[in-house]
Amino acid sequence: MKVLLAEDSRTNQILISAYIEEAGHQIVIAENGQQAIDLFLEVQPDLVLMDIIMPVMDGIDAATQIRKISIREDEWTPIIFLSGISDANDIVRAIDAGGDDYLIKPVDAVVLNAKLRAMERIANMREELKKANRELRMMSMRDGLTGIANRRHFDEVLSKEIKRAMRLKSALSLVLCDIDFFKPYNDNYGHQSGDDCLKYVARTMAKTLNRPGDVVARYGGEEFGIVLPETELDGAISLADATRDAIDTLGLTHDYSAAANHITISAGVATVNPSKTDDVKIVAKSLIQAADKALYVAKERGRNQVSAEQE
Ligand code: GH3
Ligand code: MG
Ligand code: MG
Ligand code: MG
Repeated sequence: MKVLLAEDSRTNQILISAYIEEAGHQIVIAENGQQAIDLFLEVQPDLVLMDIIMPVMDGIDAATQIRKISIREDEWTPIIFLSGISDANDIVRAIDAGGDDYLIKPVDAVVLNAKLRAMERIANMREELKKANRELRMMSMRDGLTGIANRRHFDEVLSKEIKRAMRLKSALSLVLCDIDFFKPYNDNYGHQSGDDCLKYVARTMAKTLNRPGDVVARYGGEEFGIVLPETELDGAISLADATRDAIDTLGLTHDYSAAANHITISAGVATVNPSKTDDVKIVAKSLIQAADKALYVAKERGRNQVSAEQE
């Protein structure tokens, strides 16, 4: 562990750092609370040992500041306060300021070691929790079958991008894609083959995107939505057609399609230039409706094609 020791007494600095180094940890020393904050940001320690009474800024103020920084960065670093035996009130204030534990001075090496181990254990547990939370968040955003973004994430991305388009006064495009004659595909090849087909189509769509901000999501059963930030209608149409072409070229056999002898998709494109006074939800709804209307036209005109609707 990297331990930050904030302590103004030279004797205590030498004594405590010797204990910590003996226990196999790294030590960084701050002479006062202000230095403790600076070093906290610079070295990002795994644990802080904080004296209470120090010049310039005391340990309580320093801990309060550190906790503010920590909350902002979604990180937690244990703080153990160092206190004189008679300072019961200081201990209460120290814990209230965000301290996790305290040690009475003069510090005992065995007790210090035990507390370091306890804090290390809590820090590890928190790390595990953070990892699990990250994975959960990822999972809640993904579609279980295809691995691309799910409908919930699509909705989030769309409203986020509408707000951004309002700020930047830029165009936002949406492509809605739908697999042609997918019901007969399922009925004839079975649900399992249908699922596999959805995976291929999703993967191929994801590969056609070329900007980091572009997001493809599974919008519904065999429908996909592609959000294209800062993209005018022309650009969106060409991306939609590149996607359609990529699926067409994939050539997944479909003998029961009336559009081709393989899997194809139809796509509807719509673009919006939202202004700051618009309602985000209404913009989202009408953009989806416009793309859906265009998709319907593409279906009507014979499928395996792209149609567009200017908002
Ligand atoms: P169109 O060309 O007009 O789009 O015709 P379609 O047959 O594709 O459209 P329809 O909406 O009638 O059928 C969609 C089918 O998609 C219904 C269902 O069998 C299939 N489907 C929807 N979700 C899934 C899924 O998760 N897995 C599988 N295997 N099939 C699905
Ligand atoms: Mg002191
Ligand atoms: Mg459909
Ligand atoms: Mg369909």
